[in-house]
Amino acid sequence: MASIFTKIVKGEIPSYKIAEDNNYFAFLDINPIAEGHTLVIPKKEVDYIFDLNDETLSGLIQFSKKIAKGIDQALGTIRTGIIVEGLEVPHAHVHLIPIYYDGQPVSLGKKINVPEERMKEVATLISNSVEV
Ligand code: 5GP
Repeated sequence: MASIFTKIVKGEIPSYKIAEDNNYFAFLDINPIAEGHTLVIPKKEVDYIFDLNDETLSGLIQFSKKIAKGIDQALGTIRTGIIVEGLEVPHAHVHLIPIYYDGQPVSLGKKINVPEERMKEVATLISNSVEV
């Protein structure tokens, strides 16, 4: 069965899309730990990130770099952090976490509430700052 992320790529379920190219797709995490918390995935569905072939893995990091730079520019971060865990959704993904201040808690356990309107706004801001 297709993963929930494959369904997002295909547009079968909605997402706050940031950007895509032929091989990668970026969208806001629906349960963010910070405003602008973004997921970056390979379109090819593989569960474990370290089972990706070398080309796909390096492409995923390169695509994530473009998105992270867009996040930094759009949201005025001090930097963007990266977390890979992958215990919930069996489709390899990178979490990009905007860091706004020194000492900001960066843990996937600490969700925050971001209203739908702000999610839309943030997705547009980042999207407009990304060149893929
Ligand atoms: P992990 O697998 O690394 O533990 O985390 C999976 C992440 O996917 C979680 O942060 C969760 O909030 C996010 N997630 C799960 N289902 C959806 C969904 O349907 N849409 C979006 N945008 N994010 C999701």
